Amino acid sequence: MTHPRTLYIILFIGALICLPCRSEAGALESRYAVITFDDLDVLKRFNNELYMGRLGSQMRRNSGETIEDEVISKIDFIVEKVMTALDMFLPNLKFSIVIHPDTKNVERDFREIYRVNVDYIAFYSPSRNTVFYSADNSTLRVVAHEIGHVVAEKYFPISPPQRIHEVMAQYAEQHVTD
Ligand SMILES: [Zn+2]
Repeated sequence: MTHPRTLYIILFIGALICLPCRSEAGALESRYAVITFDDLDVLKRFNNELYMGRLGSQMRRNSGETIEDEVISKIDFIVEKVMTALDMFLPNLKFSIVIHPDTKNVERDFREIYRVNVDYIAFYSPSRNTVFYSADNSTLRVVAHEIGHVVAEKYFPISPPQRIHEVMAQYAEQHVTD
């Protein structure tokens, strides 16, 4: 019979070996963001929902683009559009994006971080430097809104008041297609 402590050690080592494999499978790095997602299907759904409309023609086109490449170029393009709209340029901006399959997971993360129940479809956590999106609610306006919060937060040495934060995010959302 295995001593319980030995079993725990085996389980712990197992967890250590498995964790890096899992996170590596769903991580992308763009110029401005480290993007993690549950699996490729979630990334695919996020990419389809993030329809660029007429902005698509302004983006650089690479032949043979994968879904990963497409998401990376969309995110970097939106970040630069938001910086231009807000007139706040941050060449060294770096933040994280987590893409969940649905809004339930977004709400769960909000509850874990802030201990409050909300019905948000996406949110930005300044303390985590992370934006949380849901693959079924990731339209251009939603993505631009949260990135507006990231840029506004990082631009000022002191966080702007919450209401002003929101005004700037809404401005980014409205003007991302300009
Ligand atoms: Zn907001």
